[in-house]
Amino acid sequence: MSDVNKKSNSFKQELISKAKEMGANIIGFTPVERWEQFKDTSQEYFPQNIWPETRTVIVLGIQIFLPMLETTPSIVYSELYNTTNRVLDETAYKLANYLNTLGHRAFFFPRDGYGDISILVKKPAAAFSHVIAGKYAGLGTIGYNHTLITKEFGPRVRLVSILTDAEIEPDELIEGELCIKCEMCKKCCPAGVYTTKETLIADMDKVKCAEYHANLKEAYAFPCGVCIKVCPIGQDRKIYGNNAKKYLNEREALATGVGIEEYAGWIHTRNHGSKVIIKD
Ligand code: SF4
Ligand code: SF4
Repeated sequence: MSDVNKKSNSFKQELISKAKEMGANIIGFTPVERWEQFKDTSQEYFPQNIWPETRTVIVLGIQIFLPMLETTPSIVYSELYNTTNRVLDETAYKLANYLNTLGHRAFFFPRDGYGDISILVKKPAAAFSHVIAGKYAGLGTIGYNHTLITKEFGPRVRLVSILTDAEIEPDELIEGELCIKCEMCKKCCPAGVYTTKETLIADMDKVKCAEYHANLKEAYAFPCGVCIKVCPIGQDRKIYGNNAKKYLNEREALATGVGIEEYAGWIHTRNHGSKVIIKD
């Protein structure tokens, strides 16, 4: 290891402080060897294949505010999604830039990697998985709904990754699984994309999910996010509470009008700023 790459724990703490000042809620570090060790993806998706100089992947996450997500599909959640993307990319850009000023090669892999939802309908995969990187960086475990489930926010977290040649002390992986396989995500998914019963991580029809998103895009109410809205995991539930019954009854209440008063705030929000109209 060269001197420039011998990084102390104080260097890591400095990066964590900087990332938090810039807006990140959670930060984790993983060496590239974990892709080889666990082989959760094929080799062309490994960071060391994308950029052979990579030694460490730094994963940043920012939270999705539950009360805004609960209004989905809506322009309010759509705007929140755009905001999280902007904050993530800016934070990752600045941190990679900071690493550069210290003599380390670094860049960030953007949080999303597609030009339009029609691309995902044809090929529903990104060139790099921040979810897998987040798992290796000790930020969470992969849930039934294919998202990174974190202790802090459950799956209500957006992720971005920085690839660097700096060798930084890795974080421990989380032991066990954070997903309790309650299947709330499966029960509430409006497109019915999850099919498995036996496995922890579900079989998922990603094309069907992308097609559902294409409709939401047309309605200016992209993305969906129901499977992360209803997940009971996350310390953010201590602040906002768990509305499992309300989530489970939502579809029927909207269809029949029975108990619809409980959803007045969400309906009001949905009826403005997008083509999603619940009732006139
Ligand atoms: S809703 Fe339940 S099954 Fe789905 S990811 Fe969360 S804990 Fe797992
Ligand atoms: S994003 Fe929506 S359609 Fe896609 S899996 Fe999650 S709940 Fe289902």
